[in-house]
Amino acid sequence: MRVAFLGLGIMGQPMAANLAKAGHDVIAWNRTPGKTVDGARVVSTPAEAAADAEVVWMCVSDTAAVNDVLWGENGAGAVLKPGVVVVDSSTISPSAERHNAERIRQAGADYIDAPMTGSKIGARDAQLVFMVGGEAASIDKVRPLFDAMGKTVHHVGGIGLGQAAKLAQNLQNAVIFESFAEGLALATKLGVPPEKLVEIVKSTMTRSGVVEYKASFVLNRDFSPNFPLKLMYKDIKLMLEAARENRIKLPALETVAEIYEVAIEEGHEDLDYAATLTILEKWAGILVKGNAAS
Ligand code: NAP
Repeated sequence: MRVAFLGLGIMGQPMAANLAKAGHDVIAWNRTPGKTVDGARVVSTPAEAAADAEVVWMCVSDTAAVNDVLWGENGAGAVLKPGVVVVDSSTISPSAERHNAERIRQAGADYIDAPMTGSKIGARDAQLVFMVGGEAASIDKVRPLFDAMGKTVHHVGGIGLGQAAKLAQNLQNAVIFESFAEGLALATKLGVPPEKLVEIVKSTMTRSGVVEYKASFVLNRDFSPNFPLKLMYKDIKLMLEAARENRIKLPALETVAEIYEVAIEEGHEDLDYAATLTILEKWAGILVKGNAAS
């Protein structure tokens, strides 16, 4: 299929590369020039990428970025032809997706929200899990593209429900990681080697996919971004906003949000969200040799 891929960050670049590897005709674009994708042509505006595409796939930071890519100067939204499917794999607000879908449908094109999980390694290995909102027929049209980038597609319901599911799923990543980090801080303070705690966690019912993914990075004090802390904080704000709008309480997440605020004040926003551990260590008076984030 002819695909315009917009946004070549940590996730977008390997996703676009996997589409090209699967034989799709990929034209890619990134706001900051200089990014390349094996097997794809890179052009200089979203409109240029989307002009002749059957599918326009976006993977950018946040709601404002999706607005810029679709509706800004040289945005893709202005060149869409009837029958094109626009897919958004960014994590943004569910209500913004409903608004985008409405405008896109006026052009005779279709829209689905398809945020994903699996992080940098999942994107590289084409093992992403997508949570999708939109019409089943539109999802079926782009099924070969999902297959080239991921392992599972969950159709949640109408537009925006992919994002709603993603927020609920990522809430658990944020809270589970924080509980792992608190466990590590306590263990270290009490004299239990972190490696031993990880060994114990992995062999008990406490184990989790989050710990499976993050433990080796944490033990190696490698806080280079798999999922940048500022983007997890962006998601936390979306979750809290959804909670306020729907009058529900998320007390654990509210506390986790405060740790992110301190981490951002301390300049860790471009590190992985695992660097929130260093804030707990600092509060506990734990000095860790080779701590890339301190
Ligand atoms: P990233 O590496 O920070 O990349 C962000 C991308 O968005 C870059 O291509 C950036 O362009 C672009 N961008 C930012 N603002 C823009 C704007 N105003 N106009 C146009 N482009 C803009 O982030 P990522 O990790 O790939 O994440 C992308 C999306 O996937 C986010 O919504 C994130 O929440 C979600 N996600 C990430 C992960 C993960 O583990 N990393 C997992 C699941 C979901 P420049 O290069 O010009 O800055």
